[in-house]
Amino acid sequence: MKIGIVGLGLIGGSLALDLRSIGHTILAVSRRQETCEQAIARHIVDDASTDLRLMTDADVVFLCIPLGAIDSTVEQLIPHLSFNTVLTDVGSVKGSVVKTVAPRWQNFVGGHPMAGIAESGLEAALPKLFVDRPYVLTPIESTPLAAVELVADIARSLQSRVYQCNPDDHDRAVAWISHLPVMISASLIATCMGEPDLVALNLAQKLASSGFRDTSRVGGGNPELGVMMAKYNKEAVLRSLHAYRQQVDQIIQQIEQERWNELADRLAQTRQDRPQFL
Ligand code: NAP
Repeated sequence: MKIGIVGLGLIGGSLALDLRSIGHTILAVSRRQETCEQAIARHIVDDASTDLRLMTDADVVFLCIPLGAIDSTVEQLIPHLSFNTVLTDVGSVKGSVVKTVAPRWQNFVGGHPMAGIAESGLEAALPKLFVDRPYVLTPIESTPLAAVELVADIARSLQSRVYQCNPDDHDRAVAWISHLPVMISASLIATCMGEPDLVALNLAQKLASSGFRDTSRVGGGNPELGVMMAKYNKEAVLRSLHAYRQQVDQIIQQIEQERWNELADRLAQTRQDRPQFL
């Protein structure tokens, strides 16, 4: 199959690596000429260009660009697509993307491979990034079944676990397990860095080990991605942050008022609940 990738960054580059390794022809468009040249030199793609006309021959096109670039890119891309081309995206938010793209291209399937690392750009692209990770598809009533099946087959060929749901359910769910953690983790890092006593701060940095590494990881990721999550999933992110603030307020009260049994019950409950999320 001829697979088009628009946006050769972490996700687009990683998709290109795996899909090419299983025999597909990869045609890619990226913003900078330098990125295209690098992708060709590293044999990540068969051909790359900054010109969207390269997508004319593609059977399926993956949009792997920042959420904020999807609207204008789709506008420029559509005149170059063949009638049967299946268009999909990898954006971390689905409601706004599906609302923007589906009315303009019948064969569009919203998608979200749930894999990532802190680094961004083509240099960060990795083989096997999607193995055993969820890959969510968010078709709507008008989405042709054949298009959904095609994208699902490609996701399965990456050894991802494919799920289907509607775009709004996706956005509420990822607010809890992806977008809220980014905001909390960023706040954790900022709060620690705000320690005014430099002796305590320096010592904390020396002592930081696996616990801090785990809890701060997603707060140290791509800032552009975090802003896009908040901007395009604003309602669900705010809802989850307000709920989280209530939890923090309750913990503050339990500690201030020395309600140790209540705190113990809370922590016993979270210990019991955690495996459900993993
Ligand atoms: P990234 O590493 O920053 O890559 C995006 C790449 O797209 C950039 O390197 C840039 O390449 C290119 N680009 C930017 N604007 C473009 C445009 N208008 N036209 C063509 N190419 C353009 O970002 P990413 O992490 O791969 O994220 C891409 C998408 O994947 C986002 O929608 C994000 O929500 C989604 N996603 C991210 C993760 C994650 O954890 N990172 C996980 C799942 C889904 P050059 O400037 O070098 O050409």
